[in-house]
Amino acid sequence: MIEDVERALVVMAHPDDVDFSAAGTVATWTDAGIEVSYLMVTDGDAGGFDDDLPREEMAPLRRAEQVAAAKCVGVSDVRFLGYPDGRVEATLELRRDIARVIRQVRPDRVVIPSPERNYQRLAPSHPDHRAVGSAALDAVYPDARNPYAFPELREEGLDAWVAREVWITSSGSAEHFVDVTEVFERKLAALLSHASQISHHDDLEGMLRGWLGANAERGGLEKGRLAEAFQIVPSQ
Ligand SMILES: [Zn+2]
Repeated sequence: MIEDVERALVVMAHPDDVDFSAAGTVATWTDAGIEVSYLMVTDGDAGGFDDDLPREEMAPLRRAEQVAAAKCVGVSDVRFLGYPDGRVEATLELRRDIARVIRQVRPDRVVIPSPERNYQRLAPSHPDHRAVGSAALDAVYPDARNPYAFPELREEGLDAWVAREVWITSSGSAEHFVDVTEVFERKLAALLSHASQISHHDDLEGMLRGWLGANAERGGLEKGRLAEAFQIVPSQ
């Protein structure tokens, strides 16, 4: 794991993805003085469960929910690319759009969803998550650091940037476990900000404690602790 991290960028497919997978870890980082930015590829406009809510109101609602969730864990820079929810592909355009934000934010560390299919549980490897994971990895290496990749970015004044490390969420090969017990309430508050998405969970807290407790156990943490799990990939 790299030292001297000043800035981190979290790239996710949908509003609420970061809050399920990494918001506790983000809280520990912002508490330690690391500047964290979020980039959401879609507005989550195909989400929700309420037929009575006009669909065109879903995107602005979900953006607002994500901004509120980010506040709970010390993040105020929340960006959206506005790709259509449910139809994300790892295109050259998406790679360029993520590379642009990497060059703007200049993060030491980038957090992304796993590009791989999870055969234990289907939900973490939603096709949008896999596409964003794949495009974001390519944006870290080589696109953001190669000054000759996407020359339009340099024309925009954005110089090449090396993000030194990638943290992958929902990975079948997770080997790094962050103890989030002390910030659990803030992670829960972040998740509860996504009111349009969570109404069908009657025990969100219990579900989370179950997942995070199992992570902690896998990571060899003391009984009763809660953890988020990552695969860390050096990128230099
Ligand atoms: Zn998602």
